[in-house]
Amino acid sequence: MMIVMKATATEEDIRSVAERIEGVGARADISQGAEVTVIGAVGDLEHDQRVAELGLETLESVDHVMPILKPYRLAAAERRHGRPTVLDIGGRRIGGEHFALIAGPCTVESRDQTLEAARIVQAGGASLFRGGAYKPRTSPYSFQGLGQEGLRMLAEAKAVSGLPVVTELMDVRDLDAVIEVADVVQLGARNMQNYTLLSEVGRSGMPVLIKRGLSSTLEELLMAAEYVLKEGNENVMLCERGIRTFETAYRFTLDLMAIPVLKELTHLPVIVDPSHAAGRRDLVEPMSLAAAAAGADGIIVEVHPEPEEAICDGPQALVGEHFGAYAERVQAAAGIAGKTLSVGAAN
Ligand code: PEP
Ligand code: MN
Repeated sequence: MMIVMKATATEEDIRSVAERIEGVGARADISQGAEVTVIGAVGDLEHDQRVAELGLETLESVDHVMPILKPYRLAAAERRHGRPTVLDIGGRRIGGEHFALIAGPCTVESRDQTLEAARIVQAGGASLFRGGAYKPRTSPYSFQGLGQEGLRMLAEAKAVSGLPVVTELMDVRDLDAVIEVADVVQLGARNMQNYTLLSEVGRSGMPVLIKRGLSSTLEELLMAAEYVLKEGNENVMLCERGIRTFETAYRFTLDLMAIPVLKELTHLPVIVDPSHAAGRRDLVEPMSLAAAAAGADGIIVEVHPEPEEAICDGPQALVGEHFGAYAERVQAAAGIAGKTLSVGAAN
């Protein structure tokens, strides 16, 4: 249930409505806009009923009351009255008119490779650094990531480059170690519906990047985000990374229509990962440009100093020395959508 206050409503009016909502056991989620304030009554169906019975629409300060019919209530665009959520990750803003370029290797392989990759992407104008210490691999015989040792390398890369770090968490037992280093916790496509992991990351309050499952609908992706939001954690970004279709010419089909459609459905920033969708380096730039021009709030892309030596995902990694020129072209494409690249003081 959403209570839209009149533009003339005072702080006192807003507090009074929030108290009534809380009085029937629901949570009052206040979203204060420049002109109107919207108060969401968050709870289960029973709470909705009790809030409806309060008759808040009859109050002088209330403009109207509307049910949120979508199953994802907190992620719904209506909740913020069309205002996009803008995250601030170490001074880099993501969402609204702010565009983030998140770049780095698939996985942390060694200290030298990690520091070199961070240096390259920082010099090229990246907003954040990505790199996995825990890797979700299809085969249990493949390299699984350096774990804690990898996290230490990421911490060093962050200290040296000044770039905030995005890294994947696969197992809730590694949460404390990961959040000690990460500025954004990545939940991979294969864990998009790991509900206990989503709730734990939600409770941690850490910014989170949720990747769309290989065969997940946009509604399922939004419901995954809802698990994090429900814990009071608003720092959520969604990531389109390609879905399974009948096409076999490339690894996954990058669903670019997800960008405008998600923007219509939700206030959360939408990031696009062209690397894992393509599986091939030559497709990464055209898909990055298309995504940026279509209004994505950011790109997460794999870059390696020497892709032919990479332990994993080498064929899709951009070559380090080409990154700067690529970043310039992506920045221009983001400009078409009215967005500006977000870089910190370090860049
Ligand atoms: C990754 O970003 O390294 C990754 C494994 O991505 P995904 O979960 O989208 O496959
Ligand atoms: Mn990868």
